[in-house]
Amino acid sequence: MSPDREMNARTIHSVDPATGAALPPVPCTSLNELEASVARARAAAGAWATTDFEARADALRSFGESLAAPDVLEEIASTMTAEMGKPLEQARGELRSVAPRMEGLIDRARQACVDEVSTEGGLEVTVQWRPMGVAAVIAPWNYPVSTPNNLIVSALLTGNSIVFKPSEVTPRTGARYHDLLRAQLPAGVCELVQGEGDIGAALVASEVDIIAFTGSVSTGQRIMKAAADRMCRLVLELGGKDPMIVMRGADLHAAAGHAVRESVRNSGQVCVAVERVFVDEAVHDEFMAIVREEVAKVTVGDPRTEGVTMGPMSSDAQRRLVLEHLDDARARGGVFVQEPKTWDPGYFLSPAVVTGVTEDMRLAREETFGPVVAVSTFRDVEDALGRANASVYGLGASVWGGDGDDPEGVADRVNAGMVGINRGLSAAAGAPWVGWKQSGLGYTRSVAGMRTFLQPRTKTRKIEG
Ligand code: NAD
Repeated sequence: MSPDREMNARTIHSVDPATGAALPPVPCTSLNELEASVARARAAAGAWATTDFEARADALRSFGESLAAPDVLEEIASTMTAEMGKPLEQARGELRSVAPRMEGLIDRARQACVDEVSTEGGLEVTVQWRPMGVAAVIAPWNYPVSTPNNLIVSALLTGNSIVFKPSEVTPRTGARYHDLLRAQLPAGVCELVQGEGDIGAALVASEVDIIAFTGSVSTGQRIMKAAADRMCRLVLELGGKDPMIVMRGADLHAAAGHAVRESVRNSGQVCVAVERVFVDEAVHDEFMAIVREEVAKVTVGDPRTEGVTMGPMSSDAQRRLVLEHLDDARARGGVFVQEPKTWDPGYFLSPAVVTGVTEDMRLAREETFGPVVAVSTFRDVEDALGRANASVYGLGASVWGGDGDDPEGVADRVNAGMVGINRGLSAAAGAPWVGWKQSGLGYTRSVAGMRTFLQPRTKTRKIEG
């Protein structure tokens, strides 16, 4: 379907994934409105680019504080839970993470914006780092605030105006986030468009200067092809199939706890979820016994009930996809240590634990994005590394080992952008958030990541004498 040119002819209809109850419809942006939004962002870009950095930082700090106000936080958390099913306490946690991360982003952006001056062979060379202009930020639904926020704040701090398109699954959360941000910024610096993939595609085709996208590999590929016509700068944060390697000397309680927690967090709908667990065959049975105990602690249910640790899947389509992966694993000989259960109303799916996962299974190759602990054994580290690296994805990974295992050395050979050793990967602001292979193109956060949103211009002049 192509977007409407006229005003608000279409709406987004969605349901609460925990109850199946219809949510209030949200009008889609028409093509005329989208063009007007991009034009407003363009008109505002010049003045924002020359606004003093500390004034930009203050505006973003104020935004972070406004989001942390208890009544605001509660209202947006409830909206997020109603739209995509995350337990309320985890929705609050996502929102609470925004303000404390702000100072780190400000520090990196401040460093990234400073001109660099050097001399060479009688010349003075100045590299100026200037805002790109207008950034399109296109977001997924699984972390509908924290994920776009990193890109939006980075783009704004570095002096760009933005046009934000939230996911069609979480348009109400996106709109409330945008209201708070817009309140701290000059008119036009932060625009919002709403709609499905067609509106995203129209934004990609519009006269923006950079596209900052988070979502699936297939959409990332479509965006890359479309952006080629204008040679538009891209930063793509895409999907993953993160491996976890557990060697025989590992602390098995810590490793199994991590495997379960990071396979089922947000119902497994996390780009850096543990999707594949490789365990040394010598410790497989002991590891699985702890996995069973840990899975038994997961409480699936109404995401608004205190103590519930896992809500429903975000949609029926997402639940069906996970069940298809599990059916395929069953047909290919996977051993179900824990069978999944489904129930309605809503899109509930309890965690599944499968061992004996083989490379021909969809569970081993495709992003599952569901609450599945998928385990296989390895004979030696070469075997584990060979299979961990045999993926088109390369987002995150973790390596668990103890005495005699050399987890550091193994981590150095994992082809992933972010690797944790005896822990999950780190999201520290000083380090880039980055995928390898099809998990991403370019990167954000860190000083170098901030420069994704800046255009270098080199000025050279002769030094007198
Ligand atoms: P998706 O690719 O279906 O959609 C993401 C966004 O792109 C939505 O706003 C959608 O409307 C828009 N879109 C769809 N088609 C488009 C097109 N042709 N042109 C422009 N925009 C278009 O992804 P999703 O289901 O919302 O999110 C889940 C995916 O996101 C998973 O693969 C997950 O791993 C990934 N993800 C990655 C990261 C990361 O940091 N690497 C973080 C969160 C999620």
